[in-house]
Amino acid sequence: MDEKKQPIEAPSQDEQLELFFYHFKHNFYRAEQVYKRLSKKKGNFSFKLELNKEKGGKVSYNVPDEQTAKEFAVSMSRFLLPDSSLNIDNLLRTLQQLSTDTEYQDFLINVNQCLNKVKEGQFPVIMNNKQLRADDVFVELSSNVLFANDIDAAKYLDKLRNDPITGNLKWSLYYGYCLDVFKILSIIIDYLEKHDIHPPRIDRKNHCIFCKMTDGNFSSVEHVIPESIGNETLFLPRGYVCDNCNTRISKLEQDFVNSLPISMVKIFFGSVGKKGKLPSAKFSNVHLQRISPNAITMRYHVGAKSIPKATELPEGGYKLKLSLTTQFNPHIIARVLFKMGLGIVAIDRGREEALHPRYDPAREYILNGGHFPNRLAIFKESHPSNVSKIEGAINNKEGTFIYFELLGARFIIGLEPNPKNMINEQLLDQAYVFDLWKDKPEPLHGSVKRTS
Ligand SMILES: [Zn+2]
Repeated sequence: MDEKKQPIEAPSQDEQLELFFYHFKHNFYRAEQVYKRLSKKKGNFSFKLELNKEKGGKVSYNVPDEQTAKEFAVSMSRFLLPDSSLNIDNLLRTLQQLSTDTEYQDFLINVNQCLNKVKEGQFPVIMNNKQLRADDVFVELSSNVLFANDIDAAKYLDKLRNDPITGNLKWSLYYGYCLDVFKILSIIIDYLEKHDIHPPRIDRKNHCIFCKMTDGNFSSVEHVIPESIGNETLFLPRGYVCDNCNTRISKLEQDFVNSLPISMVKIFFGSVGKKGKLPSAKFSNVHLQRISPNAITMRYHVGAKSIPKATELPEGGYKLKLSLTTQFNPHIIARVLFKMGLGIVAIDRGREEALHPRYDPAREYILNGGHFPNRLAIFKESHPSNVSKIEGAINNKEGTFIYFELLGARFIIGLEPNPKNMINEQLLDQAYVFDLWKDKPEPLHGSVKRTS
């Protein structure tokens, strides 16, 4: 599929620094939003230790709101898990490159010392002759509870419940660590802003690949795939998308992630969204919500009789058949896929190629809606996965067809008016195919039920 792709030039060091810095601020503000929600809840993070000669010790901890506290921990995990590119140690090393100013370098040394204390935890805990460190506890609880599957997480939680002193100590160290590192990050952000320290500005021409304007504001980096179903590595650099289009597109993306089949796959495999919230999806008969990265609740708005029964599978786990009632508009799906498609053309073949007049009808469709003289194929079967990827088949003579796998939901679009998305027997068998030149495209050959 990719044979005709031109080699992509590796980003320069300055470009890498620009992107890294963008990621850092972006993820910090995301964590900050959750932090603000959390501070509005009644109660504080607190930890209590009581020692009693007869009964021994008793440890309790308190969080303002378990659900929001978990979301906060998930949003902070970008900075706290060792294998994340934004891991706080890697972050501090990278920030050193921003300025040689001695005051700034001294500031970073102080921050580093402070961080080392924070990693040890707010209070010294020795267990089995070994010190319980906050950074280790964070990794342990994250991998065994927050990011583990249901069964392993339940087993681990049981173990913690059977030993409440250790369990409460660990949870307390865990949330304390999230809070402390968040405070350190706030201090860093404040310092950088106050002293106007930032990566070298790259002299890049502003030219929007969607509206083709060269003036106006171009202040942001554009995520090719919507963040909540995101692949965090596909970005259009600053200067490629104007702020105006960015705003219009993000509204469109909101409708897209809330529609089927995206809302469904997002519930099972999506990550924390823009505001740090765990995904949820509302249909007229059921409300699904992720309450932690490994648990989902379902609320039915109908009689108890129609609540589905889960059947246990011999290989472990459960199978559940859900019926959802919802509106379905293929244009909402298609326009966002077109937007991603044009972004991929810009990344793979360069911005000049994305600005070619052959993509003008696609631009018009993305920004203003209406119709498009080509087809959209949505595969009937999804193979849920936690990755999103896009493959472009770009060929000047044979049109631009793009294949998407978004958390397992699969689509094909034709980004140019011609030739039409091929409809062979095999594809019709596997996919619903919609004519996008119609107001209300119905799947070709037979009808599809409005429930799935
Ligand atoms: Zn624009």
